[in-house]
Amino acid sequence: MIEYKEVKISRILNPTGIDLGEYVINPFMGCEYSCLYCYVRSNKVIAKREGEWGKYVDIRINAPDLLEKELLAKKPKCVLLGSTTDCFQPIETKYMVTKKILEILNKHKVYYHILTRSPAVAEYADLLKQGFCKKIYFTINNITPELKNKLEPKSPGFEPRIKAINKMLNEDISVIPYFSPILPWISDFKDIFSRFPKSNSVEFEGLNMNLVNINDIISGVSSIYPALRPGYEELLKDRTFYDSFWASIKKDIIREAIKAKKNYNIYIHNFRGYFTNKYN
Ligand code: SF4
Repeated sequence: MIEYKEVKISRILNPTGIDLGEYVINPFMGCEYSCLYCYVRSNKVIAKREGEWGKYVDIRINAPDLLEKELLAKKPKCVLLGSTTDCFQPIETKYMVTKKILEILNKHKVYYHILTRSPAVAEYADLLKQGFCKKIYFTINNITPELKNKLEPKSPGFEPRIKAINKMLNEDISVIPYFSPILPWISDFKDIFSRFPKSNSVEFEGLNMNLVNINDIISGVSSIYPALRPGYEELLKDRTFYDSFWASIKKDIIREAIKAKKNYNIYIHNFRGYFTNKYN
């Protein structure tokens, strides 16, 4: 059961260190997709909000009005939508806050990037085709439904996501299929590039083993694949093993990219890298 609440905020354009925009815009606080590996779970501002992550969504109903005013004062060239929420989650169909925000950004000729894992973004194709959507990073994966149920139980299915990506690519909307997270000994890259015939590139991100709740993630994986637990625990402990494992993953992806004659980007997190949550 999701708790929905209409709230009023004092600011919608928030400065960010993410290099996809000068400011981030989050039309909601909370996200009902409830991914276990969500970076926002360790966000200090979000942590102050009562309630379990994934169980509430605050709808920032005055966000469009604020945006109109703040754009005039701050005059950004580019912003990022969806750093701490998914802007296209189910409640958007009722409130259309994100829709109004896209209309305002287009009207003011402000460019934007979008992070999402929701096929509902494709329903706004008319807005996205007006020349200001720079790129949509669309998260995909190919884990089994059983594992998905453990790790991102309420997010949209992978096939509808792939369909939405291809639909938007066919309409010349700039979308990057973003395969994340790569799950050790589970993720399968075979023919992954061929799922997106019109995309020149696919990007990949390894599981961030520095996440505060990595043990919950390992437990979720182990509940379906008990034999993988020792390997995951070794990755947590042994730098040499960690580095050689991810190097072999890179080789697997590069092999597929060469076969498909496509570009790729691969982000692998450093062993015990200090985890800073910059997703303000
Ligand atoms: S969809 Fe994004 S914001 Fe929502 S829970 Fe998943 S990772 Fe977090």
